[in-house]
This record gives sequence, structure tokens and C-alpha cells, in this order.
Amino acid sequence: MIIRLDHIGIAVQNVSDALKFFENALGMTLDHVASEEGGKTDVAFLPVGGSEVELVQTQDPESGLGKFLAKRGEGIHHICFEVDDIESALARLRENGAQLIDETPRVNASGMRYAFIHPKSAHGVLIELYQKP
Ligand code: ZN
Repeated sequence: MIIRLDHIGIAVQNVSDALKFFENALGMTLDHVASEEGGKTDVAFLPVGGSEVELVQTQDPESGLGKFLAKRGEGIHHICFEVDDIESALARLRENGAQLIDETPRVNASGMRYAFIHPKSAHGVLIELYQKP
């Protein structure tokens, strides 16, 4: 079911500012930046080993990420596991009584299907599941 840890999502106020730390000070290499959710969310991916760090910034203070930043400030926002079959992963979670944020997978700009599990069901951690096209 779970293949690997795909990425760790870090909520930041400004991706360009955050890249100064992750690229220059920490020495990581930027793979790509992308705009998601109709331009409301900017993301930057920095590969490390078989996983990545995802920096996430939002323009929408009413979004989940916007509320997270207002309440808690910058920091680790979610972890993402790659799965081989997201539908069966969600079914298994439902059978086990887990609360899902996305009952059916969403699709991002790269055609990846993803869904979030509520932190209340995951010991305080927002978990994203990801299936490659
Ligand atoms: Zn993510």
C-alpha cells in the first residue's frame, strides 16, 4: 500500500525567501516551482535522497494552509506518502474509521492524484497520500 515517503510539506510565508535558506544556507537544490489551486498556492520542490522537501505558500488566508500559517506560523505542515492505489488506501482508512479530508482524490497540475487524511485521525499529523499517474 505505502511505497515510500514522498515529501515533507513545510508551510512558509514566502517561497522565494525560504529558498534562500534551503538552497544557499542548507545547500539543497531546487528541482521546480509550480502554481497550484488556480494560482492561490505556490510550491517549490527540493529533492533529497528518494524524497523531497516541498515549500508551500498560499495567497488565500481562508484556505487550510492560510489558517495554519495564521494560527501556528511557519513550520512542518504535512507529510506525504506515495501509494500504489489511492482508492484502496482511502477505502482501507474508511474501514478503520479514519476521518478523511478528501473522500475522493484530487488531481494536481502534474496529473498526480492526492488526498489528505485529517490530523485528528493521524495523531496530530496531516497526512497526504499521493499516487503517480
Ligand atoms: Zn504535499
